[in-house]
Amino acid sequence: METIRFDELELSAPILRAVADMGFEAASPIQAQAIPVQLEGNDIIGQAQTGTGKTAAFGIPLLQKINPKSKKLQAIVLCPTRELAIQVAEEIRKLAKYMHGIKVLPIYGGQDIVKQIRSLKSGVQIVIGTPGRVMDHMRRKTVKMDQIHTVILDEADEMLNMGFIEDIETILQEVPQERQTILFSATMPQEIQEIAKKFQNNPVSVKVLKKELTVPKIEQYYYIVHPKSKQEVLSRLLDMYNPKRSLVFCNTKRQVDELVEGLQGRGYFAEGLHGDMKQSLRDRVMNGFRNGKTEILVATDVAARGIDVDDVEAVFNYDIPQDEEYYVHRIGRTGRAGRDGLAFNFIVGREIYKLKDIQRYCKTKIKERQIPSVNDVTKIKIDNVLSQMDKIIEEVDLSKLIEAIEKKVNEEEYSSLELSAAFLKMALGEEAEEIEECMPAEQKYRRGRSKDYSSSGMVRLFINIGKKQNLRPGDILGAIAGESGLPGKMIGSIDMYDRYTFVDVPREYVSDILNAMKNCKIKGNSFNISRSKKN
Ligand code: AMP
Repeated sequence: METIRFDELELSAPILRAVADMGFEAASPIQAQAIPVQLEGNDIIGQAQTGTGKTAAFGIPLLQKINPKSKKLQAIVLCPTRELAIQVAEEIRKLAKYMHGIKVLPIYGGQDIVKQIRSLKSGVQIVIGTPGRVMDHMRRKTVKMDQIHTVILDEADEMLNMGFIEDIETILQEVPQERQTILFSATMPQEIQEIAKKFQNNPVSVKVLKKELTVPKIEQYYYIVHPKSKQEVLSRLLDMYNPKRSLVFCNTKRQVDELVEGLQGRGYFAEGLHGDMKQSLRDRVMNGFRNGKTEILVATDVAARGIDVDDVEAVFNYDIPQDEEYYVHRIGRTGRAGRDGLAFNFIVGREIYKLKDIQRYCKTKIKERQIPSVNDVTKIKIDNVLSQMDKIIEEVDLSKLIEAIEKKVNEEEYSSLELSAAFLKMALGEEAEEIEECMPAEQKYRRGRSKDYSSSGMVRLFINIGKKQNLRPGDILGAIAGESGLPGKMIGSIDMYDRYTFVDVPREYVSDILNAMKNCKIKGNSFNISRSKKN
């Protein structure tokens, strides 16, 4: 697993500084390949999935080419959804943090166009937009194409699926011929290749070559989590499985530091390992892990290479790895020397697609698990304490203690059962009661896709189109997932009738979905979507 540092990539000092702030330790494989090619001015046809670091792969060389002194629009990034446009804009802004005078603006349907026009007038060099809205601005001449030198098509296959292909062609025809065209797509269907042929100039193909990967036989699970509840879920799993040695992988140095602080705050024996640490400190951390003083080691991929400990009971992918090869390296740390190993993956939103890639390339099965509830954790803890008691009863002379209990029972009129329960409570500690508060929302409704909307966490939406418009439930699912960025799995039942459709969605995403679905079409049909009155 060869890695390339960002300072080997001939990047400007402000970009290197921003990358360091973001906590990136090394370029991801797609970045290592694509950045030099784009910096040289070539067109790129890149195959990469969300979660591989593709945004920075095109964003870094793009920023290096922008002239901050000119306030003219110089680059346009086309994205399939509002969600993605916002995400890409955020990532590029972070990368541009130390470059003065660069303005990045996401523009998408559903947002007030007058506001967008005002922002555009203030001198924006990079627009990140959905094709429909970009076309709209093009027609109004509020987005001017004459100075654009770079066009980026992000998630081109998704744009194709959503019927944006004609819009994309129109936009590309309007941009000056003398330009760099970068195309990223998770898959490369014929239509995408045709776009490349028609609109690109000798594109260099960039793709991370997949080797045959074999994953050791390890029990592998994944949990759908909310980013904010990752720490809580990790704690529950640590409590439940109680592994003697665990390795937790994060994608950035910053995340390692934050997580270590969080875990230590919760009372775990956790330490971090990453590239910014001095060798002497690393050695100390490694020794602690080896001799069992540190039970949980939180590390980045690069730092983890130096770990030479065999009996790691569990590996947690706190962040899903950017590359399939990393996955194999990570989980290969457990289940060594004939021992049983466990691997847990935390999946946020669209990372589910990355997980599918990992399973495909590694020919492995990662099973979904429900986040353990507080009751599950408590039950396991009780079992653990009780089995320790079995051992004590068998092996230790308890006669003196039995006398003390008898005395207490006689004096206080407690039953021996009450006394045992009180001891059990003491052994479990306060935690058992504390962990209830942050059950992630997604878990609440996924438990049961019940029709009791008030308590299930699901809300029923009404859409005024249905079978008569030649639609299938999959079209509705695809449109909601595509527009809002909510993974299809999180959408509940879809009941389709001739002229209307009901769809159950998680309560906390309702307003996002309603906003995202404004002004869009499903298979060419305009529609209205609202909360169902039958909720
Ligand atoms: P993307 O594939 O662009 O959606 O990126 C997924 C996530 O990876 C984003 O949160 C990025 O900030 C992060 N990321 C991008 N490049 C790196 C890197 N070299 N090291 C660690 N994280 C990265």
